[in-house]
Amino acid sequence: MSQTYYRPTFIRINLSAIQTNIQHLKQTLPKHTKIIAVVKANAYGHGDIEVANAALSAGATQLAVATPEEALRIRDAGITAELLVLGAVPASFLSKASEKNITLTAYSLEWLHSIRHFTGPLKVHVKIDSGMGRIGFVEEGELTEALAFIQQRSWLQITGAFTHFSTADEENTEHYNKQVKTFERLLSLFKFKPDIVHTANSAALLRDPNQFWDAVRFGISMYGIAPSSFIGENLPFPLKQALALETEVVHVKKIKKGASVGYGAMYTAVEDEWIATLPIGYADGLLRKLHNQSVLVNGKRAKIVGKICMDQCMIRLEEQVPLGEKAVLIGKQAAEEITIEEWADALQTIPYEICCMLSNRIPRIYS
Ligand code: PLP
Repeated sequence: MSQTYYRPTFIRINLSAIQTNIQHLKQTLPKHTKIIAVVKANAYGHGDIEVANAALSAGATQLAVATPEEALRIRDAGITAELLVLGAVPASFLSKASEKNITLTAYSLEWLHSIRHFTGPLKVHVKIDSGMGRIGFVEEGELTEALAFIQQRSWLQITGAFTHFSTADEENTEHYNKQVKTFERLLSLFKFKPDIVHTANSAALLRDPNQFWDAVRFGISMYGIAPSSFIGENLPFPLKQALALETEVVHVKKIKKGASVGYGAMYTAVEDEWIATLPIGYADGLLRKLHNQSVLVNGKRAKIVGKICMDQCMIRLEEQVPLGEKAVLIGKQAAEEITIEEWADALQTIPYEICCMLSNRIPRIYS
């Protein structure tokens, strides 16, 4: 049953763009290298279940999330693919993980000791901290002890080993190369090579075929976004952005020269001006700091004027438009485009954060 929406503010997700990105990646990978679709944080704001299903049908074979709750949402939706929780989980989640065939990350001796009373079965990927400084084994001694601990417990099975790069999106490869070496050194301590060794995030898989291993973790670029401008300028295949943010003009008026717009009366019309109201505001993720941003109306840029309100904002138009005229905040209209990267630059942040900050109040519409 399709839902009725009354407010005309939508995030449109083009699932076939996500699938095209996966298919392009698949063509560049060796046959045996699997694609782990990273669908944490509600699939970077794109919708976890819809993206997971689309990714799996396009050739991804595994999924990764960050939290137990995210993993349970995937299982509750009936998705049975291999599923890895990348973050730290408490021992209280173990029986659920076991029951639902959710693979966990083994990342420290303390964590292993905290799960010692469990009787399994439980699958883990061992996380090596090769230079990210986050969860994972750093020292050879602690990793050797951890591997022995796991080996002594028949209910605990290592199915993978992985690491995460902290600078794979940067031009300078010094730290990245150190991480590669550290990972290889620590991996050599395993008596048996785990089934699935994986190191590459989007940046690494887009720039370094040496990091394909048995699987790659496809996150931001699965959604068609380059991890950084450096990677974006050197892509091995084109990326198709999947997300667009749209609304409609709900009110238009001509204000007189000298009239003001918005809280604090911070904008004053320099001449008689057409001002339109859009039903989107900072509660949707259109942060107040985006007050210099434009939106697309009639294929042209129209500037936001005045302070962005919680649920509405105002734009200045060159001419009157009819009520219901479409306004694109992120996406293409005619020859113009506003990208997620443009918002990220305006907010001095990264595109990842833009995707994640678009609030759940905005319905996601899939095509
Ligand atoms: N692997 C881990 C451990 C992560 O934390 C992330 C994202 O933060 C990813 C993979 C995906 O990275 P990206 O979105 O840059 O592809």
